[in-house]
Amino acid sequence: MDQYQKDIIAMNKFYLTKWNKATNDDLPLPAIEFNLTGFAAGQFVYQTLHNIIVSSKLRYNKYIYHTNNHGHFLTNTVPHEIAHYIAITVYGIKEGKGHNNCWKTVMSLLGAEAKKYHEYKCEAAWETLYKLDQLKRSLLKGELKNKKLVLPNKVLTKK
Ligand SMILES: [Zn+2]
Repeated sequence: MDQYQKDIIAMNKFYLTKWNKATNDDLPLPAIEFNLTGFAAGQFVYQTLHNIIVSSKLRYNKYIYHTNNHGHFLTNTVPHEIAHYIAITVYGIKEGKGHNNCWKTVMSLLGAEAKKYHEYKCEAAWETLYKLDQLKRSLLKGELKNKKLVLPNKVLTKK
């Protein structure tokens, strides 16, 4: 495991422990993945069955982490996402969803600023959008013919 992954996991544990100690809860650490791309710095994902959460995980964007201030990411993005997990788990899907008062309450207990959006640079994401925009222009101009254009994670061909 890479050092940045260890650091992000350690901060998730730190904030979750803070919550568990303050509330006498015993919430387990959810699965943590580092495969998030695009403009979101982090994401909380869960699956439900008959309105009961059957699995949940946190996903982090390593590109945004690496191209921005690590300390800021660890003390802003990490509590933001783990607070989503805590809010949903403790208050339920209906009450705990989104950036409402339940989430804000959790954030304040974690000692983190309840901000909805990040202000990170998203160079990797901008690059992808720029390439997609170029591709669209080429398609519109009919320049593509039988060429293949290779994009990150995708191969697009003209039909
Ligand atoms: Zn959020």
